[in-house]
Amino acid sequence: MAWLIAVITTGIAYVVDRGWEDLEDDLWVGPYDALDMFDLASAGLLGGFVAIGWFLGRRGLTITPLVLLIVAISFGREGEPAATAVWWVGTALAGLWAFSYAAGALRSLAQVRSLARASLTERETLIGPNAKNAVTRFFRRRAFLLLSLAALTATAWTITILLFSSERGRQFEGPDGDIVSDLIATVAVAATLLAIAEAVLFFWRLVAVRAAGHDLVWEVPQIEGAAAPYTPIGLRAVIEAEDLRADSCICRTEWSRADPEGEYELSSDDDIPVSDYCPDHGIDRINASTQSEFLAMTHEPWIWDESSVLPQSSNPDAQRTLLYGFAGPSFAGIVLREKSGVVDASSPYADPITMEQPAIRSYDGYHGDYNQAQRPGAGMVDEIDLRPVGYDGSAFRYRHGRAWYESAQSHPEDERER
Ligand SMILES: [Zn+2]
Repeated sequence: MAWLIAVITTGIAYVVDRGWEDLEDDLWVGPYDALDMFDLASAGLLGGFVAIGWFLGRRGLTITPLVLLIVAISFGREGEPAATAVWWVGTALAGLWAFSYAAGALRSLAQVRSLARASLTERETLIGPNAKNAVTRFFRRRAFLLLSLAALTATAWTITILLFSSERGRQFEGPDGDIVSDLIATVAVAATLLAIAEAVLFFWRLVAVRAAGHDLVWEVPQIEGAAAPYTPIGLRAVIEAEDLRADSCICRTEWSRADPEGEYELSSDDDIPVSDYCPDHGIDRINASTQSEFLAMTHEPWIWDESSVLPQSSNPDAQRTLLYGFAGPSFAGIVLREKSGVVDASSPYADPITMEQPAIRSYDGYHGDYNQAQRPGAGMVDEIDLRPVGYDGSAFRYRHGRAWYESAQSHPEDERER
């Protein structure tokens, strides 16, 4: 949206300012000076921003008003008054938009805080090390990105200043070859803006997580009929470390075979993706079990296909997503699961979920029509009713794959026939 303001402003300024047409002739008269470099860099910056600004996401909120401000200042010195006015109006609009967004973010943080206070129970739970490491890792990575941007900014400015000092005073199209310091200056300004935007985002997230109560575990209920069943990717087809002790289990060997370089150091209590051929956790094990054996395994994540949803309890109170560090849209928290009295993330590398994911959208009144994968049409072995074990739907077993879960309310096939 902020980016759109920049694009529209550019469009209007272009239409208003007929000066573009004869700009080329008189702009480069006289020796090259710092202001020329600034003008060229601001034009390059604007072009780049209009082209790719969309991909900056929330960083665009900070960057847009700054880009427009730079262009407005640059233009204001020599451009037509009407066009200059357009740039200033664009700057003001983008600034207002950023401020209203910031105000909205503050408001929603205040809501998260009061919601946290209102729904605080006396219960205490032990939060495992993976969850804390996942949060630390998230912030450490962002800090590294920020430092890299700062280093890039410093380097680009140094090169710009060095180049400029040798190019200053030249004629633009002189015998000494093309001037390049304006290009590096464009990079330097862009890097500066990116670093500022990244810093704003970083500190805002830090403040938000602190303010929302960083040692809380949220139980997010799924609203019946509204929430799309949601399972975080990476949680599935993973077996817990305790299950790996059986001698016949080959999951660990298969996993290290798939990773001969040993890039992922596994400690003894890490979870491991399951092997399809494991006698204990493979597809044959799922399909060879009797229906009652299968019913006893339904809580195991590894029996389900990666694209299937996990079984949904028929008791809505039991369908809760556990979140650690939830602070609203800027940091939606790490998904936890309970395992022998401790709640913890599935791995220290777990990424925080984003608000676009259905579990959190349900909190916002999401009406579940996201692209849920459909189970395969062929190769089915049987359908097992899961209602006897408290889930509201059926399991479908497949000859060459893991099982799929389908809730009783969402039989896509039935709907198509109607
Ligand atoms: Zn295994």
